[in-house]
Amino acid sequence: MEIKKIGVVGAGTMGHGIAQVAAQIGCEVIMRDVEDSFVERGLKNIDKFLSKSVEKGKLDAKEKDAILGRIKGTTDMADFKDVDFVVEAVIENLDLKKQVFKELDEICRPEVILSSNTSSMSITEIAAATSRPDKVCGMHFFNPVPLMRLVEVIRGYYTSDETIAISTELAKKMGKVTVEVKKDSPGFIVNRIMIPHMLEAIKIVEEGIASIEDVDTAVKNGLNYPMGPFELMDLTGIDIAYFVTEYFYRELNKESKWVSPNLLKTMIRAGRLGRKTGGGWYDYSK
Ligand code: NAD
Repeated sequence: MEIKKIGVVGAGTMGHGIAQVAAQIGCEVIMRDVEDSFVERGLKNIDKFLSKSVEKGKLDAKEKDAILGRIKGTTDMADFKDVDFVVEAVIENLDLKKQVFKELDEICRPEVILSSNTSSMSITEIAAATSRPDKVCGMHFFNPVPLMRLVEVIRGYYTSDETIAISTELAKKMGKVTVEVKKDSPGFIVNRIMIPHMLEAIKIVEEGIASIEDVDTAVKNGLNYPMGPFELMDLTGIDIAYFVTEYFYRELNKESKWVSPNLLKTMIRAGRLGRKTGGGWYDYSK
């Protein structure tokens, strides 16, 4: 079956990026969020990204209009009744994701693959909320979606080879490099590696060993990473790092290495979630 129309659930940081790359390969896109203002913000962010590409001479102005013309925003999940493929990108909350998948299962045609952009959570558990667990998989994009090349394609317990093959082919069509995560395990590959390095960075600051700025400088220049851990958390969302850490603690034998540092909890309590709130480890209000 040809994938002509893609449904994206969530118009936030990841959802709008996924909607954009789907429209860039010629698909019609329905992007759903819970409030009109969130849908509008997502559409505006896509427009902003594409306008910059036009300014830089990377994209033709007509092509920009064509891409935008293929994306429709909605707050009504019923608009997913004729989509050929779904990517879910609501916040990292298992109960919410299960509820969304249950709803999608009732609305979407039975042959449609339902994928989740979860950063860490069990695809098997999300799939159990549906009557088609063989057609559920993880499609883990990275932030910012139009620029980051990787997609982790994740197999749940019942995911079929066909589902993995179709999802992999779609990601490749979007210009992405894909890897298959063969076993459903918390954090898959990248976050299983990334979260410990973020937690160590926070602990170094908490113990007064070095400043936030110097940890970032050290990692960028000593490990040749393009961003320091604090800069990266501000970009991806400090709340995401927190949700994933808490999930690892619950799922990975409550090992002490997965206990959230107090400083991380304080940032969440203070509402400093990163660039999206105008401030996190650094200030972006000016
Ligand atoms: P976000 O908070 O920016 O956006 C989530 C959006 O989902 C919000 O706009 C919210 O209103 C919407 N939403 C909530 N309930 C909904 C529902 N029932 N239907 C439709 N929309 C709903 O979060 P994000 O950073 O885009 O993360 C989304 C998912 O992608 C999470 O699972 C996260 O772990 C994962 N992820 C995030 C990153 C990252 O760097 N931010 C990277 C990879 C994966």
